[in-house]
Amino acid sequence: MLRVENLTVYYGAFRALEDVSLVVPEGQVVSIVGANGAGKSTLLNTVSGLLRPSRGSISFDGVELTALPPHRIARLGVVQVPEGRSLFDDMSVRDNLLCAAMHPRARPYRLRTLEEVFALFPVLKERAGQLARTLSGGERQMLAIGRGLMAQPKVLMLDEPSLGLAPLVVRQIFESVRQLKDRGLTILLVEQNVRQSLTISDYAYVLEVGRVVLEGPAHEMLRNPHVREAYLGH
Ligand code: ATP
Repeated sequence: MLRVENLTVYYGAFRALEDVSLVVPEGQVVSIVGANGAGKSTLLNTVSGLLRPSRGSISFDGVELTALPPHRIARLGVVQVPEGRSLFDDMSVRDNLLCAAMHPRARPYRLRTLEEVFALFPVLKERAGQLARTLSGGERQMLAIGRGLMAQPKVLMLDEPSLGLAPLVVRQIFESVRQLKDRGLTILLVEQNVRQSLTISDYAYVLEVGRVVLEGPAHEMLRNPHVREAYLGH
C-alpha cells in the first residue's frame, strides 16, 4: 500500500500542495481529479522523488520514500509514467522498452515482460523496429506506459495518459488501464478525462488548489453534485 500523509510541497515561496493525505491500497485504481494547476503532477513527482516535500510522509509497504532518490523509489516498484511521454526518440520501440528493465528486479524478466507489453499494445509489436520518433501520439503514450510496465511496477502512477489524444485512442488507453487493473496492478491515475477515469477507478480524491477537498468511492464521486458541476459538465 502507498500512503501519503500530510504532504506539503513548495516551489520557492509558492505552496503547490498543502497537507495532502491519501492511500492507494494494493490492487486498486485510485484517481486524482483536479483542474489544471491543482497540484496533480506535483503530487506524482513528489511520490516518485523528483520533488522534495517540506512536510509530510510518503511510505510504500512501510518503507519511507521521502528520503530516497528517484531511482531507488522506482526500484522498490513505485513507477511513474510521466506526462509528456519522455522517450528515447532515436532508439527503436523495442530498445526503449528493454532499457526500461535494467534494474536488477526487472532485468531477469525483461523478455517475458516485453511479450506482455506487446500483448497489451499489439501496435508496439508491429512497430518494434521503428524509431520512437516515428510513432503517433497515441503510440507514444502506449510506449510510455509500456516502459513503465517493463520496470516491474508494484504501483504504476499515470500522469494524464490520455492528454491530447483522439477519442478513439483515449478509449484504447483506458481499456489498457482496465486490463492492467484486472491483472491486479495497483494504479494511481491522474486524468482530466474525469468520467472515464472515475468509471474504471475504485476510489478518488478531488484536489483543488493543492488541497484534498473531497474523497470517496469512485462510483459515489460520479454522482457527487460538486464533481458533476465542476468536472463532468452537469
Ligand atoms: P496540469 O494538469 O496543468 O499539469 P496539475 O494539477 O498537474 O496541473 P501542477 O503541475 O502540479 O498541477 O502545478 C501545481 C501548481 O504549481 C500550479 O500553480 C503550477 O503553476 C505550479 N508549478 C508547477 N511547477 C512549478 C515550478 N517548477 N515552479 C513553480 N511553480 C510551479
